[in-house]
Amino acid sequence: MMRMTVLASGSKGNSAVIASSRTRVLVDAGLSCRELLKRMAIAGEDPTALDAILVTHEHQDHIAGLGVLARRLKIPVFFTEPTHRAWVRMLTPRTTMTYAKWLDHVQREKEARAAVLAASTSTDSIVAQSEAIAKVSAEGAVLNRSDDPNATLELPVDPDEEELCSPEGGGASTQKAEKSDPTHLPAVEYFHSGTRFSIGDIDITPFTIPHDAADPCGFVFEAEGIRMALATDLGYMSPNVKAALKRIDVLLLESNHDLEMLRDGPYPWSVKQRVLSRVGHLSNDATAEFLQKDYDGGASWIVLGHLSESNNAPELARLSAEQALSNQPTLLGNRILLARQAVSLDPITL
Ligand SMILES: [Zn+2]
Ligand SMILES: [Zn+2]
Repeated sequence: MMRMTVLASGSKGNSAVIASSRTRVLVDAGLSCRELLKRMAIAGEDPTALDAILVTHEHQDHIAGLGVLARRLKIPVFFTEPTHRAWVRMLTPRTTMTYAKWLDHVQREKEARAAVLAASTSTDSIVAQSEAIAKVSAEGAVLNRSDDPNATLELPVDPDEEELCSPEGGGASTQKAEKSDPTHLPAVEYFHSGTRFSIGDIDITPFTIPHDAADPCGFVFEAEGIRMALATDLGYMSPNVKAALKRIDVLLLESNHDLEMLRDGPYPWSVKQRVLSRVGHLSNDATAEFLQKDYDGGASWIVLGHLSESNNAPELARLSAEQALSNQPTLLGNRILLARQAVSLDPITL
């Protein structure tokens, strides 16, 4: 059994649960912690059963609730190292960070986690944990400053979020220390694009995607002979992405904008250029071209995702994909769903 539950998809937030019968991971946490927990409850996904969070890239619509949710659930976050570093820089934007300082930061986080682990067996655990984390955050405060080119497209982080979504039963001093370091995570694991790894019984192959982030990727998940893939935030359909999306049973694929709506739409010229660029987002036409020319037709479900609310209409995205599939009669068995921004989709189970 494998299951995909798309909790949200679009430029205002992305998140999906991928589950086998034994393992459950969340891909991206682009809504607030509260909203993610709410949507999981509605979709029947138990957040306490999650084993890990995987991050595709550091844009706000993929990481808005990441730190708070990972701390709340006390689960590891899987990144590539450049994505982790970019995320840390985004959260501490008013300082500069050399690579040497970054390595130092990573080392101190490791030490803090080890201290927390050691302290968790002692009676003074809360105090020790707070001290360890506070030490890292004091170091962090003098690190990193950078301007994020995507800042104008980002959503503000709710300042009340941590307070309202903090771990149940955590001591006040622990919460305070964690709050002072938004980059603190219960555990961090690194993966490399192109190198397969496993979480529980799910095999995961990350693949590089053409997009304007530090080290963005999509994922293919495989368990019990079923393969599911997530591929959004694609400037274009690069050869390696096409190669990765073979023999997929459930495919979440970007269909971001209608070209005419984008050209005539409300975005400033510079943003339109970014979206249209080779590191921006996939148009309905580009998605249709892939489905018609390069797609192997194996999926039971194609979920169109990351639809722009300003520059697309669900019926246009659907029509475009359906037309592409109808041009190849062998592909008519593929069923199309549209992922939503405002509500989660019903789980797709194979
Ligand atoms: Zn992005
Ligand atoms: Zn995105």
